[in-house]
Amino acid sequence: MTRPEILIEIPKPDDFHIHLRQGAELQQYTHDVARSFRRVLAMPNTLPPLKTPEDLRDYRAQITKAAGVIGLFEEFTPLLTFKLGSDVPATSVAALKKAGAVAGKLYPQGATTNSEDGVQDLGEMYPLIEAMEAEDLVLCIHGEDPTAFSLNREAAFLPKVAQLVQDFPRLRIVMEHITTSDAVTALNSFPDRVGATITLHHLLNNLDDLIGGFLNPHLFCKPVLKAPNHQQALVAAVLQGHPKIFFGSDSAPHAVDQKECAVGCAGVYTAPVALPLLAEFFRAGDFLQGLEPFICHRGADFYGLPRAGSLASDPQVALVAEPWTVPARYGRVVSYAAGSTVPYRVETREVQK
Ligand SMILES: [Zn+2]
Repeated sequence: MTRPEILIEIPKPDDFHIHLRQGAELQQYTHDVARSFRRVLAMPNTLPPLKTPEDLRDYRAQITKAAGVIGLFEEFTPLLTFKLGSDVPATSVAALKKAGAVAGKLYPQGATTNSEDGVQDLGEMYPLIEAMEAEDLVLCIHGEDPTAFSLNREAAFLPKVAQLVQDFPRLRIVMEHITTSDAVTALNSFPDRVGATITLHHLLNNLDDLIGGFLNPHLFCKPVLKAPNHQQALVAAVLQGHPKIFFGSDSAPHAVDQKECAVGCAGVYTAPVALPLLAEFFRAGDFLQGLEPFICHRGADFYGLPRAGSLASDPQVALVAEPWTVPARYGRVVSYAAGSTVPYRVETREVQK
């Protein structure tokens, strides 16, 4: 029997934006991502949100326990964020950092899932952001103005990002899940301490995939998918190896009954398929060598963390050319590309101990 071909072998990569939720399903969501990714930046919009050092310590313990349950993912490393709000005192930032926070997440009020307690007045957050700058914590921004028309929300928020860049001259900022050419242009105008993440679904899809034929609720997310010219701007930036852009899946599970209903939740669940489909995206773009920098180097460099693969003991993953069909459900969640064939299987390589 001939052995299946290996497309590429890389260090087990990073996902710098993911929703692991909490409670009974945390274990499944953790396993789904831990099969492909070693480090993830876990978002704080749980219920209740992560806002105190105790919240972070407790959440890390829950994730680590969930990852360890079946004994396969001891190396899995959650990186933590806290949620900015008027109830988070600037004086708590040092303790948040000590409890494991590498970033704070800014949600404009009402912009996305569980953001009803988000920020309405950016000025109110200035003492907190100042403390983050002093502690060298990253500010992650969901950059949408929820009062603007849905397709214009990201562009409408860009002046606020520019203001923050100007007002905090040492603050590192990540423009999360950018979706427009406007955001790429703005990013290019900012200093190197401003980076951006891009999701898989915003690279592979545009608004027509959501509403162009039948409605596909499993592609409904915030920020919403955009026109093809914006999608192309993102694809071009990633396939040119844009030095300030790295991977953040924004994988966001919602139970099927919360997606296939009259009032559907925003979020696309890409964790189970993100790595093989990203690899295929880079292969099809004739830029396979760009995969590793996008998911193993640039995010780590931005956050000041060791790159995946920098230790001999860091696990490797191989993308093996063995097509498989994405299951209809992962637990109660419909994954991205459910029912479709994915060309590669992710295989974790032995770790030298
Ligand atoms: Zn998100």
